[in-house]
Amino acid sequence: MPTRTAGLMPVLLVTVLGASVATGQLAPGFVDPMPALDAAAKAIGTANLRCVTISGTAYAGAVGQQRESARNVDWPRIDALANYTRTMDWERGSMKEEFDRKPGLNPAAWKYGVRWIDGPLQQQPHQIFTVKDNYAWHMDGPAAAPVASTPDLAAIYQLDMWLNPHGFLKAARLPGANPKATWRWELGEMGRDGPEVRPERVTVVSITVNGKFRVDATINKEHLLQRIHTWVADPVLGDMNYEHEFTNASYVDLGNGIRFPTEWHSHQGWDDNYGMQAASAGHNAFGGSLKDIKANHCPGTVEVPESVRRATFRVRVESTRLADGVYLLGGGTHNSMAIEFRDFIAVFEAPLNEDRSLAVIEEVVRLMPGKPIRWLINSHQHFDHAGGLRTYMHIGATIVTHVKNFELYVRDVLNYAPRTLQPDMVSLWPPTELAEGYFYEAIRENFIISDGTRNLNIHYVNPLDHVDGMLIAWLPRERLLFEADLVDTTQPRPAAPTSDQRSFFNAVRKLGLEPLQIVPVHGRPLPWADLR
Ligand SMILES: [Zn+2]
Ligand SMILES: [Zn+2]
Repeated sequence: MPTRTAGLMPVLLVTVLGASVATGQLAPGFVDPMPALDAAAKAIGTANLRCVTISGTAYAGAVGQQRESARNVDWPRIDALANYTRTMDWERGSMKEEFDRKPGLNPAAWKYGVRWIDGPLQQQPHQIFTVKDNYAWHMDGPAAAPVASTPDLAAIYQLDMWLNPHGFLKAARLPGANPKATWRWELGEMGRDGPEVRPERVTVVSITVNGKFRVDATINKEHLLQRIHTWVADPVLGDMNYEHEFTNASYVDLGNGIRFPTEWHSHQGWDDNYGMQAASAGHNAFGGSLKDIKANHCPGTVEVPESVRRATFRVRVESTRLADGVYLLGGGTHNSMAIEFRDFIAVFEAPLNEDRSLAVIEEVVRLMPGKPIRWLINSHQHFDHAGGLRTYMHIGATIVTHVKNFELYVRDVLNYAPRTLQPDMVSLWPPTELAEGYFYEAIRENFIISDGTRNLNIHYVNPLDHVDGMLIAWLPRERLLFEADLVDTTQPRPAAPTSDQRSFFNAVRKLGLEPLQIVPVHGRPLPWADLR
């Protein structure tokens, strides 16, 4: 009875597959993670290591502070981290990092890697960053008051404690880790390993860390973890690649069966020097040679300071009227400026992130009801100045930016790649223009936004050390000049103008602008006369 047999076949197949899942057999492509984890833990003595203190010299890459996004352009390294010491105590859930770095070059709140956000500059050479459970804080000098990190940053700092061989193997045993594994033939890294003719079979184990991050580790035939990889949320790049790499050669024997790597190499952003897929080639965010290793050198319980425990991070928007229909939206580290036209509004700068941008947009709509925000002028591509671009795209604004930023924004930023860790408006409700791309004005020199009575003139400023692709905006009738990072009134003015400031003053002179006031993204407006 052929008809009957054919009818039975699918039922039988379903039964066989169902049974294999029930008895714990693995689907093709997957392997049992436990033997790989056990062998790795035994190879480096993870059971014998409760905590560790490591020291040496490290470097710090400033994620999102690149001068331009192009092939082989990495995150800039501001200053080395001298006397870098890190203590990781996995049992107590704490990690402390200390180092010396030249003051005045970077925001005090910035450790390395993600979230360089212009704010109070580092004052003291000795820096201390601590994380304990869900709390993180930094101290600018040993006597300074602790300053709480935002919860998203605290989660990344906490994650770092597990993104190393012993940390990963410990995290894999915690409840909720739910290890899964696959295998592959690994070709290695073109830039580091050269041509590969005999790929090595590796096991890749993935686990969930802190109930949130999916972290995978590549375990090689020597049972050593060579790459530990995950993603973290970034307002500009979305689900951002985040990984640490270790080489077999750098493991040293600490006795008692414990082995530990001395060379650290960390990527934030895709390891994409050649711009194969991403426009931003920036990735080296942290690394160094940390050769002084003390096993089981435990510091005891780290107490979370009360001020850190109680810290809140509410977005505050304070608006100031600068002229008729011209507002400064302040209240945080970065201002935006809103300019009212007859039928629409233009906003200068979309800084930080979506929370900030949504709050600023609400205030703009309250101040000037019934008109669309038609234009968003983006000063430059630094991540703390571009973190709100997607939000303005979401509400329907056209992004005015210099043509040198266009490639980065189209490919890496204003794209429809899903954002799973911190979904934003565009990822949740991608508008149709996103695919078509007609919400940009990528300008070269000058651009005028006008309603026939009011003009807002936008100009390119170059050459600059700070960044390439910098725009300023000028309101001729009110003689207000909007700018970012060229003159910050939050910082003490240098004794003599910097070369970037000379370029800026030169542009103002050549364009024939005679400003009454300069309106910076950082700080309060300043009479132009005070500046010259
Ligand atoms: Zn900048
Ligand atoms: Zn800035």
